[in-house]
Amino acid sequence: MSVANRAPAHIRALSPYQPGKPIAELARETGIPERDIVKLASNENPLGMSPKARAAAAAALAEGARYPDGNAFALKAALAEKYGVDMARLVIGNGSNDVLEIAAQAFLAPGDATVFSQYSFAVYPLATLARGARGIQVPARDYGHDLDAMAAAIDEATRIVFIANPNNPTGTFLPGGEIEAFLARVPPDVLVVLDEAYTEFLPPEKRYDAIAWIARFPNLLVSRTLCKAYGLAGLRLGYGIAHAEVADLMNRVRQPFNASSVAQAAALAALADEDFVLEAAENNRRGMAQLTAAFAELGLEWIPSSGNFVTVRVGDGEKVNRALLAQGVIVRPIAGYGLPQWLRVSIGLPGENARFIAALRRALA
Ligand SMILES: *Cc1c(COP(=O)(O)O)cnc(C)c1O
Repeated sequence: MSVANRAPAHIRALSPYQPGKPIAELARETGIPERDIVKLASNENPLGMSPKARAAAAAALAEGARYPDGNAFALKAALAEKYGVDMARLVIGNGSNDVLEIAAQAFLAPGDATVFSQYSFAVYPLATLARGARGIQVPARDYGHDLDAMAAAIDEATRIVFIANPNNPTGTFLPGGEIEAFLARVPPDVLVVLDEAYTEFLPPEKRYDAIAWIARFPNLLVSRTLCKAYGLAGLRLGYGIAHAEVADLMNRVRQPFNASSVAQAAALAALADEDFVLEAAENNRRGMAQLTAAFAELGLEWIPSSGNFVTVRVGDGEKVNRALLAQGVIVRPIAGYGLPQWLRVSIGLPGENARFIAALRRALA
């Protein structure tokens, strides 16, 4: 009997998360120089990060031999101020992925269940199964969440419902009012994790304030990240906002130093540079128009997206992906999500989008 065989069955049954292909890896495999490779595979910010965040990160390196502030006082104070909430409602994560994992750790025991949508974020089933809990996947409606069906799927064992809005990988959007109505139907002892990783890309008319709902729904956890619109994907920084009792439980199980000092310093500076985020959203709006115009011209179907990416039907996704890689363009195949005919493309800079469109044209020819 090997040590691996003695790992719990629910761990041995896990399939690892499949990230976007790193630029260096494609360079190694193809010999294409890294500078000639375009990566539109991980919903990263094509503008990079705010120069102010970068300067703060560099300054924080000088103190890299010291442990970070495990309670992230300065960062929490800034977030508390930004949202008008008490600091006791905040949980800082090593990326918002960490916030999702911490929620699963705090609220799931073996035999419990979570509810999430088909075609939603891969981390929800992963975080569930890693706790020995059972995932209830609810069929999507028009590639997005079917909230009626999700409410109906909640059973006695359900402890968490995961909702991504906008959703990844499909980019679908639920109006705030529908989520609010859903919250009123969920039993108060079931945690609703509202994952708003892409909320900064929403145009003003789609905005809603989920954080204000926590007063009425103490079972709501709102999760956000500095890794997408704020451009800190490589530094890893996310946060959760919830009722103080929920946040307290989560803070008990997280790693004591889960957010690095460099990430905390960069996040603090990034939060203060709202102009940078507006610029990222504007680049995204234009890039989305550029890509969808090309899809229309090529006669391709796409899913209207509210995120910083768009999912397009190309036929044989694996084959088209291979043809794109050979041209130095990395996008995200999503066969693992049950969408083998589709590719998810992150919005890049105008020139990167043009490179992708030209490569796609050739790949489809
Ligand atoms: C990218 C993403 C996250 C987490 O990203 P972090 O880099 O860990 O902050 C969370 N939820 C969704 C839906 C995402 O797409």
